[in-house]
Amino acid sequence: MQYRTVLHIDANAFFASVEQAANPELRGKAIAVVGSHGRTVITTSSYEARAKGVKTGMSKYEALRVCPELIIVVGDNKKYTYTSTRMNEIFRDYTPEVEAFSIDESWLDVTHSLSIFGSAENIAYLIKARIKHCFDITVSIGIAPNKLLAKLASDMLKPDGITVLTPESVSRTLERMPIGELCGIGSKMKRHLNMMSIYTCGELGRCEEARLTRKFGIIGKRLKEMGQGIDHSPVVQFADENDVKSVGHSSTLERDISDPVEIKRFLLQLSEMVGSRARRYNVSGKTISSVCALRRFLLILG
Ligand SMILES: [Mg+2]
Repeated sequence: MQYRTVLHIDANAFFASVEQAANPELRGKAIAVVGSHGRTVITTSSYEARAKGVKTGMSKYEALRVCPELIIVVGDNKKYTYTSTRMNEIFRDYTPEVEAFSIDESWLDVTHSLSIFGSAENIAYLIKARIKHCFDITVSIGIAPNKLLAKLASDMLKPDGITVLTPESVSRTLERMPIGELCGIGSKMKRHLNMMSIYTCGELGRCEEARLTRKFGIIGKRLKEMGQGIDHSPVVQFADENDVKSVGHSSTLERDISDPVEIKRFLLQLSEMVGSRARRYNVSGKTISSVCALRRFLLILG
């Protein structure tokens, strides 16, 4: 069987790293990025700040309490979108099959580039070196047979890591992996699965499909596959989107949010990604649609 080779590349502490790269005075220091217009919630902090206990989602007052020397930087979305676009351009030097998942995460299907560059690890090292050289930021890279596993792998060594999941090592890795580590299993789903005594990917993969379908409907089958590390979803390259009828972008938040200020900030980030794609395709739109979660957000926003 011919396996695919997929990379998931995740920039480390992206907003904070971009700020540190842009301003030498911030390098090596505990910094935290907050939204613009006097927003007070921390969106990202540097690893120096994390070491002192600063966490995403803290208010800046809370963060300053745990780390008094913390430097607060007001975020600049233009800078992040620019860096993100340039990074994806670099990725496309290694394969045309690049899919941006969020502003600082992309998947690359390198199956057909391996003979040119030698190996997936080699591609990962080359990309890391270029991103470091061009932007002075580090990335964590996961290499695996599909998107689900590549994303899981990139999370396993942070910052600046490369993690390889071979088809042979998948079941061993998943056996004890908590289900919440899988992209697509949020805190609500995790709670439901926990109530069914399913805590690890191994347990999820072994669960009877009918039991999952009874509880979750049609996604039951997909859940079981996720527990087994199966994912057939393709890396959707930009070229596939050429005849664009719609332009969109999605992102999964690390936790549920209900603060309208925070929601607006995420909407702004998503909108910027949509805007940059629309400009690239030279298209404009007249209809805006959203997933149901977003509709709920909009209700909260009034
Ligand atoms: Mg990241």
